[in-house]
Amino acid sequence: MKDLKEKSRDIQKIKSSLIERKLHLEDELASLQSEKYDDQTQDPADQASSAVFETLQSSLQHNELAEYKMIMKALEMIDQGTYGYCLDCEQPISERRLLSFPNASRCVSCQEKAEESAKNKDF
Ligand SMILES: [Zn+2]
Repeated sequence: MKDLKEKSRDIQKIKSSLIERKLHLEDELASLQSEKYDDQTQDPADQASSAVFETLQSSLQHNELAEYKMIMKALEMIDQGTYGYCLDCEQPISERRLLSFPNASRCVSCQEKAEESAKNKDF
């Protein structure tokens, strides 16, 4: 049963890094939200650059929200015990990969295959 123990310890490590990231994103999203509404008085000359800034800001917010949702999903899967296994070959996904891509649902080789076939579908 040694392997099982190792596995659950690794998941705990990933889980705490996910929670840390989640708290960080909550902060970022909250500050993005307040910046948006603070910015009521502005120089007309700044309008153009401000529009660019707003676009950047909302795409940043979009990305962070997407990451936030992904982390919530990963945490849910950890709690259900379904996290960290490849959808296709059902082998455990490496800890290093999960730390870089917390939402990874496939191992590296199955992911490459999936991306290959997705690419082929486009043509
Ligand atoms: Zn796989």
